[in-house]
Amino acid sequence: MLNKTSQPSQEKIPVKEIAEDFHPAGVAELDLYQKREKIYTRKIEGFYQRIRLYTGWPLLLGYFLLPWLNWSGSQAVLFDLPKRQFNIFSLTFWPQDFPLLALMMIIAAFALFAVTAWIGRVWCGYTCPQTVWTAIFMWAEQFFEGSRNQRIKRDQGPWSRDKVLRKLGKHGAWIGVALVTGFTFVGYFSPIRDLTQSFMQVGIGSANDSWGLTWGLGWWEIAWINFFTCATYINAGWLREQVCMYMCPYARFQSVMFDKDTLVVSYDASRGENRGPRKKSVIPSEQGLGDCVDCKICVQVCPTGIDIRDGMQFECIDCALCIDGCNSVMDQMGYERGLISYTTENALEGKPTTLFRPRLVAYGVAVLLMMSLFSWAIIVRVPLELDVIRDRDRLYNETTDGLVENSYTLKILNMDQREHSYELTFSGLDHGIIIGKNKVFVAGGEVTELPIRLQIDPSNIPATNTSIVFLIESTDGSDYLATAESRFIGPETPAGRSGE
Ligand code: SF4
Ligand code: SF4
Repeated sequence: MLNKTSQPSQEKIPVKEIAEDFHPAGVAELDLYQKREKIYTRKIEGFYQRIRLYTGWPLLLGYFLLPWLNWSGSQAVLFDLPKRQFNIFSLTFWPQDFPLLALMMIIAAFALFAVTAWIGRVWCGYTCPQTVWTAIFMWAEQFFEGSRNQRIKRDQGPWSRDKVLRKLGKHGAWIGVALVTGFTFVGYFSPIRDLTQSFMQVGIGSANDSWGLTWGLGWWEIAWINFFTCATYINAGWLREQVCMYMCPYARFQSVMFDKDTLVVSYDASRGENRGPRKKSVIPSEQGLGDCVDCKICVQVCPTGIDIRDGMQFECIDCALCIDGCNSVMDQMGYERGLISYTTENALEGKPTTLFRPRLVAYGVAVLLMMSLFSWAIIVRVPLELDVIRDRDRLYNETTDGLVENSYTLKILNMDQREHSYELTFSGLDHGIIIGKNKVFVAGGEVTELPIRLQIDPSNIPATNTSIVFLIESTDGSDYLATAESRFIGPETPAGRSGE
């Protein structure tokens, strides 16, 4: 510690030149960018791959065929943004139905939470579009470029005619799949039959296009098809596991839904260790070995390139490829299957697994309640809406017959997909009459404006400003009804109302 009277030392602190690459002991240079190592996955077959096939194909076919399905004469599933209508089979959702759509999304989110808490990332492994499309792209890669070893060897070797042709074939197939995917996606928003017809009209020799091409498609359609084609090609062809690891938020927060009873793909270290190669004839326990022969098949088949033997990792998408890979090795070695398996942390620790735990029950009850609420809302939902706009130019008119008249414009929105006939009535103004049409047909998904006037003898007007209710009711047996409130304005003085 310095004394108050002490003088600063005149002695200079020696300065030492430090080499640019010097790092103090224990401090390593950390590169925040990790270069991606290309993953060459090995093809594997087995029980879980068959399940992936059986779940993947129906989903793919559903995706590609659904927009071609017609329902009551129009596209069964169409998100018609210009008309602001979402058609899902017999249901049409309008902007007014946003709470229902929001409820649907919340149900889907809770269902995903429940499934994740119960059986882990089964969504990621079997049904996520990223997984399904990546599997198709991998299949194309194997078709054109061969097995894992052949692909590694070819990529390390020089460019040759064979290599160029194989690469061209692979990328051609990827672009083809990506284009059909992007086109189909846009077909959910723009009627797919018209879209296909327009797509076919692309030709050469336009008078009004600087590139000499004619486009049957609109520019926004071209832009979105291109966008989704590129997104599919890049995500499934190039980024693959990086989408799951760095871009998908679900991968980051799914672990909070896990507990010790969640079913996840796990390696049984107590059985597998000590790992090591051995001859088939060797009895592992006699050599101090576990059942893992350290063949690394589980790593080679993993689409995210991780080693499940290192424990549970956020990169693992629960695809079970490593289970099939390891089981095939266990079969070859004559060992019991299941060194890697779907199991729970409790089971691995020799404790019982509880299926009905509070969190899972809470998720299940929440999903059931919301689904009941949603179903009820759909059942009681009336696909009809009525709006009334009162003519504000004049408070009221007096006719030559001495009647008091108010004008209105009624907007009738038929939210159903079928045409309906309606009849208009009103209440709150006894002895009043409607001048104009009070019966109307409205086509499915259309809005009709109905201008009408209400007339009444002034002596029958109950007040200067009277509350009235318009009621529109279907007359074709569909039993739809909608009401809208408005006002009838009359003369200010009772004398005026009596016509004096
Ligand atoms: S596949 Fe099975 S035996 Fe081979 S390294 Fe992986 S865990 Fe061990
Ligand atoms: S560790 Fe196994 S289950 Fe997880 S992603 Fe890799 S192969 Fe799939």
